[in-house]
Amino acid sequence: MSRAVVVGAGVAGLSTALRLADSGVEVIVLERRRAAGGRVRQIEAGGGRAPLDCGQHLMLGCYRETLAFVSRLGTSERVSQVEGPTPFVTGDARVHPYGLWKLPAPFHTVRAVAGLNHLGLRDRLKLGLAAVSAKTGRGARRDALDVISARRWLRNCRQGGRAISGFWEPLVLATLNTPIDEASALLFATVIEKGFLAGREEATPLLPRSTLHDLFVDPAISALRLRGAHVAFGQDVVSLQDDGRGGVAAVTTASGERVPADAFVIAVPSWDIGALCQEGRWASLAGAARALGSSAIITVNLWFDRPWLSYPMAGFVGGAMHWVFSRRERGPDGGDPGGYRVALVMSAADAWVREGNTAIVARCLEECRRYFPESRTANLRSSLVLKFPRATFRARAGQGSRRAACTSPCQNVRLAGDWTATGLPATIEGAVLSGNRAAAEVLTFLGAQDGRR
Ligand SMILES: Cc1cc2nc3c(=O)[nH]c(=O)nc-3n(C[C@H](O)[C@H](O)[C@H](O)COP(=O)(O)OP(=O)(O)OC[C@H]3O[C@@H](n4cnc5c(N)ncnc54)[C@H](O)[C@@H]3O)c2cc1C
Repeated sequence: MSRAVVVGAGVAGLSTALRLADSGVEVIVLERRRAAGGRVRQIEAGGGRAPLDCGQHLMLGCYRETLAFVSRLGTSERVSQVEGPTPFVTGDARVHPYGLWKLPAPFHTVRAVAGLNHLGLRDRLKLGLAAVSAKTGRGARRDALDVISARRWLRNCRQGGRAISGFWEPLVLATLNTPIDEASALLFATVIEKGFLAGREEATPLLPRSTLHDLFVDPAISALRLRGAHVAFGQDVVSLQDDGRGGVAAVTTASGERVPADAFVIAVPSWDIGALCQEGRWASLAGAARALGSSAIITVNLWFDRPWLSYPMAGFVGGAMHWVFSRRERGPDGGDPGGYRVALVMSAADAWVREGNTAIVARCLEECRRYFPESRTANLRSSLVLKFPRATFRARAGQGSRRAACTSPCQNVRLAGDWTATGLPATIEGAVLSGNRAAAEVLTFLGAQDGRR
């Protein structure tokens, strides 16, 4: 039986490992932390409250690889579609519903565009020009799109200032976690094409009923163990040992353990790959990964004494915070001891990560009161600010040339992770896709049958 070592138990590592285990490979997963999940790990909220994801996440119906992963784990019923329109709310507390019609693409978007009445009619009609350009590559040649920013591309597509600030910019921030003046036009056009234009089902937002940990992290660990895989925590891989024939013989951990295998998948974030593989043939890959940079996300959880947000989620137009999600989970004992929770998300939040939590909570509360008058009579009970200074790679123009292929300079090593060249932004979907691709490559290298075919 061939043996493979997977380094990192984030979404990419878990999806790689499961596909290999399903195909009869002996799998060892080595994870630096004490728990699995990486950037979708679960944290304790304390005070008897239900555990939380370490940051608020949203998925879309177009997350095909993720939904297939969830289906393999038998947890599809733990995903729920966000029902009803997702409003954009302006600072004057006016609500502009963004909903989708049950019509074939692209007509499903007509209702969405009609509802955005904070934009003038001309602006709304012209939104379609950017959509058409995303599909056909107008506004810049498709292969040239990665060198210009999303703002410049939108301008080329004749989008005015109001349409950009009132509609496109919140979408760029939410999907690329990068300011619109830096964000890659190519990645944003891909998001529009695959996420919003493909059809109503693809564009429908999805949320886990409880946490992503319950949806796929914990089930993946159980499924791996059931297949005989060994998942080890607190194992910081510090180096790759050459086999003297252009490949790798083993990885070594910080505690000095040597773990040999026939093949290896490195599924760590772009900012960690350099520490593992810095010298010789890895140097240019590690340098490019470092050049990708990173971008912060802050999630602010606020518990109130009563519910006030009447939508599952809503966007702030022109706010410091970008999105708010209504979360109504139960505590472990079935009660709801923390009260009613909303999660506010600020993307591309680098300027805010050094700000104190008290100031951040005060700003969130002020924005809730201003944008949602119904929150004014609800009392804040407690808060939890979750800062991720390195939440995703920075999806800047030019990112395409810095993202690594699945193959590596070593013949028996493959790479996975949201930062590898998936053609997608740093997302759960990109991570699962990269994991599936790495597993398929390893199976070919080992001459093993793919158990999913
Ligand atoms: C706050 C926040 C909000 C987000 N929102 C969304 C969203 O709404 N929708 C969406 O699709 N995506 C979102 N994302 C992005 C998504 O979480 C990531 O793209 C995805 O989880 C990345 O998975 P990964 O496996 O590639 O990397 P990671 O999750 O980072 O996993 C890598 C793992 O490798 C381990 N590791 C690193 N170095 C070593 C080593 N030397 N030895 C052993 N182990 C090592 C790490 O500990 C980690 O567990 C968000 C991310 C954050 C942080």
